[in-house]
Amino acid sequence: MESAEIARRFLRFFEERGHKVVPSASLIAEDPTLLLVNAGMVPFKPYFLGQRKPPAARLASVQKCVRTPDIDEVGKTTRHATFFQMLGNFSIGDYFKDQAIPFAWELLTASESDGGFGFPEERLWVTVYLDDDEAIDIWHNKVGVPLDRIQRRGLEDNYWHMGVPGPGGPCSEIYYDRGKEYGKDGGPVADEDRYLEIWNNVFMQFQLSAVRSKVDFDVAGELPAKNIDTGMGLERMATILQGVDNLYEIDTTYKILDRAAELTKTRYGRDARADVSLRVVADHVRTGTMLVADGVAPSNEGRGYVLRRILRRSIRNLRLLGSGEERYMHELTSVTIDAMGETYPELKVDAPQIHAVIDAEEASFLGTLRTGTAIFDVAVEEMKRKSGTTLSGEHAFQLHDTYGFPIDLTLEMAAEQGLKVDEESFRRLMSEQRERAKADAKAKKTGNADISVFGTMLEKAGKIDFLGYDATEADSTVV
Ligand code: ATP
Ligand code: MG
Ligand code: MG
Ligand code: MG
Repeated sequence: MESAEIARRFLRFFEERGHKVVPSASLIAEDPTLLLVNAGMVPFKPYFLGQRKPPAARLASVQKCVRTPDIDEVGKTTRHATFFQMLGNFSIGDYFKDQAIPFAWELLTASESDGGFGFPEERLWVTVYLDDDEAIDIWHNKVGVPLDRIQRRGLEDNYWHMGVPGPGGPCSEIYYDRGKEYGKDGGPVADEDRYLEIWNNVFMQFQLSAVRSKVDFDVAGELPAKNIDTGMGLERMATILQGVDNLYEIDTTYKILDRAAELTKTRYGRDARADVSLRVVADHVRTGTMLVADGVAPSNEGRGYVLRRILRRSIRNLRLLGSGEERYMHELTSVTIDAMGETYPELKVDAPQIHAVIDAEEASFLGTLRTGTAIFDVAVEEMKRKSGTTLSGEHAFQLHDTYGFPIDLTLEMAAEQGLKVDEESFRRLMSEQRERAKADAKAKKTGNADISVFGTMLEKAGKIDFLGYDATEADSTVV
């Protein structure tokens, strides 16, 4: 079943059950606490919080999402993409668990000819929050899932809130058993590679009065109007329904992977490291294209930095595959636009602008990479000669300061050689530089400094901002 058909089926199912279909919002979040939309409910947050009146009490959507914190998983696990689409049905003070759970079950298990996805019941497992007996009762008595395929999990896994006082509640997740060849028995609690999480159902049931951490909060009471927020991963559904091994091999990503292999004369499935690179390229080129299409431009901070990092990782992985000085991003972007264009026709209309942004970033990064890699190699040589295992903070700093190498790139390149980086001293040098920049800025205010120096310093200080970025975003992730 094609990705576009999976989305159509999902929306049709919920439309037939009284939901209003809402188009995907831009990846650029309106929500000031988030850089990029990372879940289907993000555009609907004002409705759930009672700040805005929803167009209907039942909504359904296919929302574009980007999750940068998942970047290190890409290509290594079978199920994490940086860009993916979340299918969701939402109830704003309308139906609750007793309808949401049967809806999910019916859609997954109804035959394809009846508009469902035709999953065999015995392949499906569910998890519930450990105290949520109401959900267990519905799953078991109303839907008929045997108790041995319902697993209880704690706050860490099966409870949702926004990290601030407001709505919160238990979740129930649905997993698909991919079979013994993917891992050990025992359900999702035992193995999340074999048991693939496909759908999260959040029951917004309580009002939280204080939130100290993910697992430490006070419940003030039940919400007067309870909500449903669900998220099903389109790419994960496609992985199962298209019978492929991982989500980089589905219809909307495989063409990119295939073309990257062709261009770099690599055979997919021969070498584990090359396979990871091909999957990273397939994932990242798609993410980069979708971000540029929504108006993000590469820069050194915020979402611009997310985009820059994604594009640069694509290019570097192409280099690892042997692209050398060749420029392949244009061609791969074209393949992406073709693959995603059925669902997002604006990609075709905006193709020239999308290409212009990505081509320019490639040209600039290839220059950086050429010089930086040479410097890096010399540093590594020297260190290996001294039988060292850790690249010095000075080297990492020099690579960053003079050659524009982000620290994560240095860390990755070092890891590929089995080496560590003295991050502590790197960070010390960075903060010393920041102090110098501050002192200079102050001196400038009092009229004692050369303005041109101040300009360079500020520019360098500006780069510091993006170093801790991933951690910041991970902390503010909504789901
Ligand atoms: P996982 O535990 O596998 O990382 P999650 O619990 O973080 O997933 P949710 O936040 O519950 O995911 O998001 C709802 C659904 O979106 C998931 O059930 C999954 O189908 C899909 N999803 C989440 N993250 C990704 C991703 N990085 N790539 C593709 N699909 C994803
Ligand atoms: Mg996750
Ligand atoms: Mg999960
Ligand atoms: Mg989940």
